[in-house]
Amino acid sequence: MPETPENWSSRTLAAQAMGKVDAATKAVVPPIHIATTFLRDPDNQYRSGNVYGRPDNETVREAESIIAMLEDAKAAIVLGSGMSAAVAVFLALKPGDHIVAPKVMYWALRNWLLNDAAEWGLVTEFVDTSDLEAVRAAIVPGKTRLVWLETPSNPLWSITDIAGVSEIAHRAGARVVVDSTGATPILTRPLAFGADIVMHSATKYLNGHSDVLAGALATRTEDEFWARIKRVRAIQGLILGPFEAFLLIRGMRTLSLRVKAACESAMDLATRFSNHAHIAEVLYPGLTSHPGHALAARQMTGGFGGMLSIRLRGGEKQAIGAAAGVRLWKRATSLGGVESLLEHRASIEGAGSPCPLDLLRLSTGVEDVNDLFADLDRAIRDAAAQG
Ligand code: PLP
Repeated sequence: MPETPENWSSRTLAAQAMGKVDAATKAVVPPIHIATTFLRDPDNQYRSGNVYGRPDNETVREAESIIAMLEDAKAAIVLGSGMSAAVAVFLALKPGDHIVAPKVMYWALRNWLLNDAAEWGLVTEFVDTSDLEAVRAAIVPGKTRLVWLETPSNPLWSITDIAGVSEIAHRAGARVVVDSTGATPILTRPLAFGADIVMHSATKYLNGHSDVLAGALATRTEDEFWARIKRVRAIQGLILGPFEAFLLIRGMRTLSLRVKAACESAMDLATRFSNHAHIAEVLYPGLTSHPGHALAARQMTGGFGGMLSIRLRGGEKQAIGAAAGVRLWKRATSLGGVESLLEHRASIEGAGSPCPLDLLRLSTGVEDVNDLFADLDRAIRDAAAQG
């Protein structure tokens, strides 16, 4: 974590983007650095620490210092998308390495592991990571190099015990990387539970305004594996662009406020929809009925996230019908923005998805929760009336 003069909280530091002020103008919002190349010193050195834009950009570094602070990490890097962040981790492995990953995880990454990564010689075993015994059984000592986790996991919001898995994985010599996109650093700091690296689709809550595609990785130690990941980013040009980095910094200034609002609304909606005539099940770790609730209560601080899913009694047709009828919720993929989004998830995940056909995934934004409830309640009732 970067040095700060006082013991200020992460909310305070993020609100002021680490308090950085432009030295030349005293502007409280630092300028966006767009140069792709930098002047050498007369003696041929690069004392500024900047050589070329593929590895070096000061605006990107400012975003990274905020993420490292939020995750209490030794270092962080930002990349062009959540997928490029995840893929950079896997490309830092070696052909023949064995990976353990969750059965329920972000679908595009699961597909990449199943298809593309296999062609690169990586072997992935998918298990129910919320079951520690299943994780233990899947790990092959000396061969498993990485255990990938996602908690809460998309789109069923099951919870994995990061500390429990980390202990098992480390004993077998494997690293643990956690996709913490849904939890955000406000609710869970995976490194504090023993994970080695935390990953975010910064497109979601970190930026929070559905206008930047970005990914982030933060590490507990700057070891040889971290150096390999940074090399993948530098060689392949996966660094985030400076304008996007600036927008990401602006988004992170209000992260704690947005996450708090989303959590409160998600909890409220989950409770109300639990008693809804046309809803068979609400999947939300904040509900005591959720199988991962007790663990989530230990592992998440300040809320259970802004994501929940509902299963319609009337099946797929009514789920798609309800999605068609909303006026306030936006029928769109993605999550973690200030505007609430809803999606018939099975339609996007396709064959092989563990997502039930009757499921709608909800990302609660920061609107008035009564408006959100009224809009979706009406759309669900209308769809049910149409049969
Ligand atoms: N991880 C999770 C949990 C996601 O929801 C997403 C995107 O939806 C990703 C990773 C991929 O991120 P990106 O779309 O920024 O590449």
